[in-house]
Parts: sequence; structure tokens; C-alpha cells
Amino acid sequence: MRFFSRYTFRFSLCLVLVTLMFVLICTCLIPPVLKNALLESKRNFMLQSSEFVLTPLENGHFNSVMASVPKDNAMRLIIADSRLTVIHDSATQGNIKGKYLVLPGVDKAFSGEAYYNAYSEKNDFVYNMLRSFTFDGNDYVLFMRYTDGDSAQLFKTCKQVCIFSGILLLLVPVALLIAQIVSFNKSITNLSNSITHLTTGKYVPGQADTASDEIADISRHLDEFAAHQAKTEELRRTFVSDASHELKTPLAAVKLLSDTILLTPKMSHEDVREFLTDISNEIDRLTRICTRLLQITKFDAFSDKADLVPLDLATVAENVSRMLSKSATAAGLDLRCEIQDGCYVSANYDLVFQVFYNLIENAIKYGADGNEVRIFLYQKDSSVIFIVDDDGAGIPENDLKRIFDRFYRVDKARSRATGGTGLGLSIVATAVATCRGTVEAQNRSPHGARFIVRFPSCPKPTANEDGEPS
Ligand code: ADP
Repeated sequence: MRFFSRYTFRFSLCLVLVTLMFVLICTCLIPPVLKNALLESKRNFMLQSSEFVLTPLENGHFNSVMASVPKDNAMRLIIADSRLTVIHDSATQGNIKGKYLVLPGVDKAFSGEAYYNAYSEKNDFVYNMLRSFTFDGNDYVLFMRYTDGDSAQLFKTCKQVCIFSGILLLLVPVALLIAQIVSFNKSITNLSNSITHLTTGKYVPGQADTASDEIADISRHLDEFAAHQAKTEELRRTFVSDASHELKTPLAAVKLLSDTILLTPKMSHEDVREFLTDISNEIDRLTRICTRLLQITKFDAFSDKADLVPLDLATVAENVSRMLSKSATAAGLDLRCEIQDGCYVSANYDLVFQVFYNLIENAIKYGADGNEVRIFLYQKDSSVIFIVDDDGAGIPENDLKRIFDRFYRVDKARSRATGGTGLGLSIVATAVATCRGTVEAQNRSPHGARFIVRFPSCPKPTANEDGEPS
């Protein structure tokens, strides 16, 4: 059980404080209050008892009053005259008859006030009452003492119960505190081990603490970070291995072709020329791969901090189609554009240019079986939609999901023949995502491919935003 969950911790703290207050009340406040209450509780009893004996005393029945005092020593009556000489004492032990009665409160008693005081003595509570009375024209003082062992015993028991329950109550927060410290230590140790494993590269994601405390939160963030790092590392490894593989193929071809020229001394001029043309093509291919790799690296770094500004995609689409119209004509295709003006999105010119360029170039490359490539750009609701249609062979259904992966090519031989690197669509996906858009590939009926890019539209900028009048 974890005690460090946010609210549990706060509740525990409150519990500790409340318990400490209880302990304080039990041990420091209740016993003295109870004692005072017990000592005060006999004031009326003593007053009534003294009233009870004063009437016969005022009539001079001293002896009969003294004789009526029980012999158990719980009650003691002393009568002194106006000079404070004791004339009657009911005590059998320590009788002070004939001696002076020296007690606090005698003055008050003679002034007519009933003087009461009580205190605890060894195992007893002692209650004293001093009253004055007159008999036969003379003043007397009555001293009444009641010694109560039962109340003292009751108080002692109550005090013990208070202290005992105080200690018991104190054990609860102490136990809670120990449990929290143990739990905290365990969590901190686990976290520390996880960090150590992370720094030494031995951390295996999926070990996050499942509790709901703050340390578990850190552990979960750490786990997410480790999982992200592992995924990034895996992607990096795959990318490096794929890139090496892609670079190796043209390099091997160059090596083979150049070795063949070197090892064939009497090669005809035409053959040498043909081999050199092949070498040149392979070098072009290497250049294309390197250019695309550099683009990917650039766009990857770009993705976090791309400068997105309001951009009319119509301008970009027109620029790209103008640029590729010659390639389309060379491939025997018509490049038909239906471009709506003022399709503003928050984007980066270079990124969108690359997206449009790659998609239209692919449509020309892979749609050469048809007659035309169609480009549409328009705004619908809160989106700007860019569509490239071709009448080529389309994309096999199984490959649709993977064509945006790096180095993925449907038909390696065909792609190679068309100078493909398998990186164009992955660049498209990264660039579109950076501009907060989406891209999808579909097949058209009866044949051909369709690429749809959607960007969230943005309002046309005012003069202040792009420096030109709106
Ligand atoms: P490449 O440089 O090989 O063209 P891309 O990433 O641009 O790489 O494309 C990946 C693969 O997707 C291509 O090899 C091709 O098989 C397929 N593809 C892309 N565009 C089209 C299209 N318009 N029609 C058919 N297949 C396409």
C-alpha cells in the first residue's frame, strides 16, 4: 500500500496532526481538568453537610454532633472557639483538642463566609469546609474535613486511561510515518535504479511504477522518454541500414562497371562509352539518393521549428506545375490544373513546394500509361485540399499503408528504372505533418492513383502580416 499518493499524503498529514492534538488533549489537558472538576464537585456536598450540623451546634448539641460522626475517619469535625482553641475534635488519631486551629480561611469563616478548599493528598482527595456559628453569644468555628479515596482512585484510573490512549494514538501516526518513509525509500530507490539503467543503456521500457504518487509520475515520464528513445534509436538504425543498403547498390554497379573497363584492355570505344554512360547514370542515382537524404535530415530538424506563415497554396501549385510541365510533356502527358486562388494555409513555402513537387513528379513517373495528370486545389469548409490524380497502374492495396515509409518502393525494378529512391513520399509525409496537414493515397477506378493532402485553412493575411496590402 502506498501512502504517498497526493491526497493520501495530505490526509495522512492531517491525521498525524489531529492525532497529535488528541494526544496533547488526552495527556496534558484532560487530567488536570478532570481533577479540578472532581475537587469542585464536593463543594455543594460539603456546604449541605455543614448546614446539616450547624443547626444542632447553634443549639449547643456539641457532643451529640461529635458522636454522630462515623468512625471510619472519612469525615472529621473540629470545633474551635473564638480564640481558635480546639474544643472538639472527632479524630481518633492525631486529635488536636486543646490546641490552636491554624488554618487558612478562618478569617473568612468568622466574617460569615463559607470557606471551601480541596486538594489531593497521597491517594486521597481532601475536601475542607470552614463555617462559623454562634451559640450562647459566643462565636465558634466549625472545621469539616472529608477524605475521599474513591474519587482519587477514579481520577488515577482516568489519568492512566488518558495517558495509555494517548500513547496508543501516538503509535498510529508513528506507524504511518514509518510506512511512508519505507514506501518513499522504495520508490526513490526504484527511480534511482531506473535512471542508472537508463544512463548505462540497460533500461527496458515498460517498467514504470503503477502507483499514483509523484515519484510514480516521474517514473512514468522516464519510461515514456525511454520508450521514445528506443523507438528513435530503432528508426535511426533502420534508416542507417536502409540508407547504406541503398547507397551500396549503385556503388557496387559503379565498381563493377569500372572494373570491367579496367580488366578489358581491348574494349571497343562504343562499349567503353556505354559502360561510362551506365556509370554516369549510377552516379546520378547516388546524387539523387544523397539529395533526398539531406532533404529528410533537413525536414526532420525543421519539423519542430518550421516557420509557418499564411501562404496562398495556389501560388505554390502554379509554380510547381509550371516547373514540371516539361517533364509531363516529355512523358506524353497533359498536366491539367484546376487551381482555386486564395487557398490560404499556415505553412512553409519550401515544405509545401516539396510536397507538391514530389506528388506531381510521381504522378508523371507512375502515370505515364494514361493521358493526363490532373491537379486540383480548392478550399472546402475549414480545409484546403490538394489532389493529384493520374491514370497509371495505381498502387496495390497491400502497399497503400506502407508507401509513406522510408525507402519503400512497390516495384523496385520499375522504381529504379524511373530513378526512384523510395524517399519521396516519406519526405511528403514529414513535410505535410510539419504544416499540420494529412496526406493519404487512394486508388482510382478503373485505374490510377490519387493523393489527397489536407491542410487546415487560415484567414487571408492582412497588410501587417505579410507586408502587402490585402
Ligand atoms: P520513389 O522515389 O521510388 O518514387 P516515393 O517515396 O516517391 O519513392 O514512392 C514510393 C513508392 O510509391 C514508389 O516506389 C511507387 O511504387 C509508389 N508510388 C508513388 N506514387 C505513385 C503513383 N502516383 N502511382 C503509382 N505508384 C506510386
